[in-house]
Amino acid sequence: MILRARIVVPVSTPLIENGALVIDGGRIIAVAPWAEIAGRFKGTICDLGEVILLPGLVNAHCHLDYTNLAGEIGTTSSFIDWIKSITTLKMGMDRADYMASWSRGAQMLLRTGTTTVADIEAVPELLPEAWQSTPLRIYSFLEMTGIKSRREPERILDEACSKIESLRPSRNQMGLSPHASYSTQFELLLLSGVRARQQSLRLATHVAESAEEFEMFFHKRGSMFDFLLANNRVMDDCGGITPVGHLERAGILGKNLIAVHANYLHEKDAERLAQSGSHIVHCPRSHTFFRHRPFPFLELKTAGTNICLGTDSLASVDKLRGQDIQLNMFEEMSAFAKSNPSVSPDTILKLATMNGALALGMKGAVGELTIGACADIIAIPYSGGIADSHEAIISHSGDVAASMIDGQWALRPESLSANE
Ligand SMILES: [Zn+2]
Repeated sequence: MILRARIVVPVSTPLIENGALVIDGGRIIAVAPWAEIAGRFKGTICDLGEVILLPGLVNAHCHLDYTNLAGEIGTTSSFIDWIKSITTLKMGMDRADYMASWSRGAQMLLRTGTTTVADIEAVPELLPEAWQSTPLRIYSFLEMTGIKSRREPERILDEACSKIESLRPSRNQMGLSPHASYSTQFELLLLSGVRARQQSLRLATHVAESAEEFEMFFHKRGSMFDFLLANNRVMDDCGGITPVGHLERAGILGKNLIAVHANYLHEKDAERLAQSGSHIVHCPRSHTFFRHRPFPFLELKTAGTNICLGTDSLASVDKLRGQDIQLNMFEEMSAFAKSNPSVSPDTILKLATMNGALALGMKGAVGELTIGACADIIAIPYSGGIADSHEAIISHSGDVAASMIDGQWALRPESLSANE
């Protein structure tokens, strides 16, 4: 199949005006100006016309099973109040609610241009039924906590690893997610790092998300400290250390770690993350919801970390009265642009594509239109000037015009004209 469009944005290489892509067996075998493709390749030509073709977006952090909690919790600057609210809401959800939530979230992502998502699975019982409900490429990280249940870290980890072993997904991938430094015992982090190295697994964890978490680890006090102490967390790992330092002490910083948030850093934290090769996920709308201090983008970038974007869950996105909110990576790019006006649109697009692919160990396979990559491609309508293409991408709103995953249409373009 040959896809032709007025503009092709491969992300890893410069924009192509009047470009085309050749797809064979679910892979991209050529990306070039139409004039070069036309004479060299035969196949069904799909001329998409006035669109920008770009790689499907990579959402590096999501909680699909909380989608239906959208707007249930009001905007707050108290992280502890939010935790209490979501814990109460979750008690009212059963398996069917979670499944409905997960599938609805996956549909939102698909319609809005995500083709690969790193999802934290709080309800692993949904798998593999959940995977089968969507054409999205899913990287499922199994969530582990264990504070309230007071379960042995080793048991929690064994259970997660058995789940991974029993599912052995062919198309999707799985990793481990010790939920966060504050919501796990130190031993669970430590053992997760060891197990991940033994079994070549990726890890995802929330870190330094809130001021309360920083205060808990650094000063051994504050509302999170008091709340967790009352919930039987052993607090002797707190005091004189930053949340990032705590991860380093547990031995889990590294190339296989996705560190989500990293909002509250101190002294050498950015260097620690960079030197270890850990990847950072920033979730712009969730960041705004919690009224955090500005995300330390420049500090992390200067230190040399790989930074990507994620949606987080809709339980932490501002919802105005009567407004419908979606899991949508374009919205995240646009929110990021608003808070970081000095960052160029093409850099922002990389955060939502190639950088996420690198974090998931999928560099060259997704997040760019390049020879050998999976044919995960989206199209957005655009008839403006070539020079403004990147700006148009990051400010795109609404659904995409088409989405292809693995060379198959996941959302078929309406105006498809096919000529043999
Ligand atoms: Zn999260």
